[in-house]
Amino acid sequence: RTAAQKPEEVIKKYMEEVRVIPDEDCMICMERLSCPSGYDSPEGGSQALQPSTVGKFTKCGHTLHMLCMLAMYNNGNKDGSLQCPSCKTIYGEKTGTQPKGKMEIYSIPQSLPGHPDCGTIQIIYNIPPGIQGAEHPNPGQPYTCRGFPRFCFLPDNDKGRKVLELLKVAWTRRLIFTVGTSNTTGEPDTVVWNEIHHKTEMMSNVSGHGYPDPNYLDNVLAELAAQGVTEDCLKR
Ligand code: NAD
Ligand code: ZN
Ligand code: ZN
Repeated sequence: RTAAQKPEEVIKKYMEEVRVIPDEDCMICMERLSCPSGYDSPEGGSQALQPSTVGKFTKCGHTLHMLCMLAMYNNGNKDGSLQCPSCKTIYGEKTGTQPKGKMEIYSIPQSLPGHPDCGTIQIIYNIPPGIQGAEHPNPGQPYTCRGFPRFCFLPDNDKGRKVLELLKVAWTRRLIFTVGTSNTTGEPDTVVWNEIHHKTEMMSNVSGHGYPDPNYLDNVLAELAAQGVTEDCLKR
């Protein structure tokens, strides 16, 4: 990873200042763009952004107070990437807060329900307990790991193998798990799935996270894309 960029520079990399202020509201503070942002200019720096500065995202073209976007960036994990709050377009490489662990891949010579023509890919995720970092909800406190190793299954066909390659990218970018409160158990400070669904049952479907599910591969491709993980990541 590159050395941490200054938050203001990240904003300026993906947003350009607009001279003609559109007659719209800022998606972050909900004030008119013609009124200044409630956030102050950062300390120091002669070309610091002003509360009245309005910026436009380079690709999607949505406009916001640049200081509102800076405040949103500073609230996150400051990984050098931005996400447009209007349309969710990702600028740069979004990374998450998944703790250290292992992702292993195996092949199983047996078909999944709904995929009779191929074998199965098994992914095993293992994350040991540890201490939360600055990017987690309670830095310095421990986190627990329930139900690890977690076993996941994909059909071993073209689309399934593509999903596997994208899941490897998502793993490297720390997007598969996060530390938080489990929806299922209510336990805080524990490792939980992030927003990319996995199938954790192979031959049964007791939890609803099993096969058959004819839409699963398309759904998970859309969830990966929402995190900025697309086929383009495999070409580079
Ligand atoms: P969570 O309950 O906070 O939910 C986060 C996301 O994970 C949600 O989108 C939810 O739909 C999905 N999810 C919930 N249960 C799932 C399951 N069984 N398989 C796949 N996805 C699931 O997330 P969490 O606390 O990380 O996991 C949910 C529960 O599932 C936990 O109690 C965990 O221990 C258990 N689990 C156990 C195993 C195991 O091998 N024993 C494997 C996976 C999950
Ligand atoms: Zn604003
Ligand atoms: Zn946008």
